[in-house]
Amino acid sequence: MSNEQYYFPLDRFMSVEHFERIKRFAAGKPSPCLIIDLDVVRARFTELQALMPKACIYYAVKANPHDAVLAALAELGSFFDIASRYELDQCLRLGITPDRLSFGNPIKKRVDIEYAYGKGVRLFVTDSDEDLDALAERAPGSRIVFRLLTEGTGSDWPLSRKFGAHPDTVYSLVLRARDLGLDPYGLTFHVGSQQRDIGQWDDAISKCRYLVDSLRPEGVRIRMLNLGGGLPGTYTDATLPTKVYTSEIKRFLYEDFGDEELDIFVEPGRYLAADSGVIVSEVVRLSKKSRNNQYRWMYLDVGKFSGLIETLDEAIKFPIYFEKKGESEPVIIAGPTCDSMDILYEKTRYSVPSTVTTGDIAYILGAGAYTQSYSSVNFNGFPPLEAFILE
Ligand SMILES: *Cc1c(COP(=O)(O)O)cnc(C)c1O
Repeated sequence: MSNEQYYFPLDRFMSVEHFERIKRFAAGKPSPCLIIDLDVVRARFTELQALMPKACIYYAVKANPHDAVLAALAELGSFFDIASRYELDQCLRLGITPDRLSFGNPIKKRVDIEYAYGKGVRLFVTDSDEDLDALAERAPGSRIVFRLLTEGTGSDWPLSRKFGAHPDTVYSLVLRARDLGLDPYGLTFHVGSQQRDIGQWDDAISKCRYLVDSLRPEGVRIRMLNLGGGLPGTYTDATLPTKVYTSEIKRFLYEDFGDEELDIFVEPGRYLAADSGVIVSEVVRLSKKSRNNQYRWMYLDVGKFSGLIETLDEAIKFPIYFEKKGESEPVIIAGPTCDSMDILYEKTRYSVPSTVTTGDIAYILGAGAYTQSYSSVNFNGFPPLEAFILE
């Protein structure tokens, strides 16, 4: 058990005025629900653009695929990282042209490659021989980006081990791509989501430098580097300011690549979406399992199956805010379903004001990314998390 106490002042996460707006808007809406503030998404995009003016921003659609989020980003000139034909269809339906899309998932069916190619997508990520063969056959001449394996060390939600290949494998993939008539355009990696160790970008960029150098004698010039996702959202565990991330990343790039001409892509998901969302939920039950139990259990009407899957292993620690004030009381927090894995925080010690009672509203902050789209369809009969765009 960790001794950390999570009972935070609201103003670490948002202004009182902002909170009041959300609260007013949420009144009368079903509980639980997700409130999304597009102004936050827009502000993040603009901030990143200002901090990395040379980078092309590809929003990772899976972080929050709400139509309104995609439309708001499209309007600001964002590009999009898609992982399936369904995300492709959605982007096209919203009027996003295929030249603004990157098919970033190295795991895809031949028919889906053909489908994307038919719709005009010409930028694909790969990490294996089989996938490369499929691309050569169904997406001839396309620009190919090769994904490097990283370890995900230092991130709260590592996703890297599943994707990418070792530099030696990437090296031979690049040469094969050229021989198959594809255009070996760039290299990519993902350092792990909610990455708190900025040095991970340094390691990955160095690997890219090494590959670019070793491919040059073969006559292949890599023209693009995609720095992936990993920029953080605001949760209970503090991260460094965005500006520190971007200035360090730019320094790593400069150290390895100097003034070489190179297209730079970034693929933020969480960073753009997380802080835009608040889940408004309700305390369903407070109970003690025995007279001598140290802690009370607090059951909310939202849980792992209705959007909070990233509490698996208590990886992402969402700030949970109550309006009531009072002494801080440690609790174990769980969701409403009958699955015993639907416990949100047990090892991580959360505290709530001791005055909180059943029926009170729990505001789950930083919930704009990887929540609604992860919620189950009908488990225990609970409907998927509904989202509303703040007006
Ligand atoms: C999920 C994903 C991202 C976004 O990652 P964040 O950590 O949310 O920024 C970027 N690129 C790819 C390929 C992804 O799969």
